[in-house]
Amino acid sequence: MQTPQKIAVVGSGLVGTLLAIYLKRAGHTVHVYDRSPDIRTIQFSGRSINLVMSNRGWKALEDVGLDAEIRKIGIPVDKRAIHLQDGKLNYQFYGKEGEAIFSLSRGVLNRKMVDLAEAEGVKFFFEHKIWDVNLATASLYEGESEQGDWTELKYDKVFGADGAFSRIRHRMQRQSMFDYSQEFMQIGYKELHIPANADGSHKIDKNSLHIWPRGNFMLMALSNLDGSFTCTLFMPFKGENSFESLKDEAALAAFFAKYFPDTKEVIPDLVRDFFKNPTSYLAIMKCFPWTFEDKVALIGDSAHAIVPFYGHGMNAGFEDITILNELIHTYGDDWNAIFSEYEISRKPNADAIAELSRRNFEEMSNKTADSNFLLQKKIEKWFSDKHPDKWMPLYSRVTFSLQPYSEAMAIGDFQNEIMQEVLKIENIEKIWDSEQVENKILELLQ
Ligand SMILES: Cc1cc2nc3c(=O)[nH]c(=O)nc-3n(C[C@H](O)[C@H](O)[C@H](O)COP(=O)(O)OP(=O)(O)OC[C@H]3O[C@@H](n4cnc5c(N)ncnc54)[C@H](O)[C@@H]3O)c2cc1C
Repeated sequence: MQTPQKIAVVGSGLVGTLLAIYLKRAGHTVHVYDRSPDIRTIQFSGRSINLVMSNRGWKALEDVGLDAEIRKIGIPVDKRAIHLQDGKLNYQFYGKEGEAIFSLSRGVLNRKMVDLAEAEGVKFFFEHKIWDVNLATASLYEGESEQGDWTELKYDKVFGADGAFSRIRHRMQRQSMFDYSQEFMQIGYKELHIPANADGSHKIDKNSLHIWPRGNFMLMALSNLDGSFTCTLFMPFKGENSFESLKDEAALAAFFAKYFPDTKEVIPDLVRDFFKNPTSYLAIMKCFPWTFEDKVALIGDSAHAIVPFYGHGMNAGFEDITILNELIHTYGDDWNAIFSEYEISRKPNADAIAELSRRNFEEMSNKTADSNFLLQKKIEKWFSDKHPDKWMPLYSRVTFSLQPYSEAMAIGDFQNEIMQEVLKIENIEKIWDSEQVENKILELLQ
């Protein structure tokens, strides 16, 4: 048990609210500040993205007994449904039978998390903008505007769960020996919508993550509980087949008719949504250190913002909380040790999931329609079923296991080298499940 502290969490997003629950359970007074209005009181706009939750996210919820409550608002997704341009549909299961990720509306989940945190006794201060922090004294500065008067709020500790453009990190960036990088992708995204059927049922399979892979761009769809799907179009900002090239209704209609013909029936408001919804940017942000003495710590996107192609930003943020909680139990009141080990153990894993996520754009938008890649996946699955102790595919390691991301990536790279050798075997497409191939993999694994 720790000595009770007065702790501020800046940010009432998914990571801030779950962290607040953990800290409250540990006996602390917990105040959460957010510049936005209470998410439970606002209408969702065209930006209410949905997310997938996998084992790392569930683990953090399970440890505080909240997983069952959250599963009620999710839909299990056990496979990819690949929509090829010629109209063919292929299914690729994610893992073993019974293994699934869960599709959740980010807005619905966030509302639920605020409710749950409030029920624990966490106090929320919405529409409170935090402009600065005194790192040495864990004091926050809150006010209406950056230039106006600020109120000083004194705490024992401050957690910056204030997302990719964190003000808390901003202050840390002005320290010497603080590393920071940000990289904007050339690819942006826009949300579209597949409404429910009149009877509330889903228009396409709700237990699949739908992908229309088209090389350097793709469309994706994930189911919502109300029978609708949130679609996301990822494509370059500039060039051929880019957001810039879809200037008017005629260009948009011709583009969708050519590349996504099977969506015509299911996205009735394509034109309205496309021109109304914003085109959003994607960026990778990295920094180090994540903490200042025993006073201030960054967590979630404020410490590591990644691109969404592995579906792990929130999962990684929730795993930060699991690790922090383990360290709280190990070190008790020694917050210096807690913070120091937290950042040292999490940083390589945050970097690894950032890299895996970047690489996964290529896998989703291009390779999922590539016959060599599909053969590789088939061989991996077959070998893994035969030798589960010797081979777990990378996707399963990242998504259905709790193995540190950095280890998963290193093993995945090694496995990929083996598979590139295996794919060179003559007639591999005919003999992919033969003893010869099995022995070759076993030999390469030595
Ligand atoms: C298109 C897309 C798809 C995604 N899909 C997935 C997925 O499938 N699975 C997954 O795990 N992750 C996914 N992610 C990532 C996931 O959304 C984020 O990693 C996660 O929401 C980060 O949570 P957070 O609490 O750290 O930050 P945020 O959700 O950004 O919350 C930060 C909070 O801090 C508040 N705040 C900011 N600045 C201040 C300030 N100065 N003062 C007071 N309050 C402030 C904000 O209002 C906000 O409420 C996706 C992201 C995108 C963009």
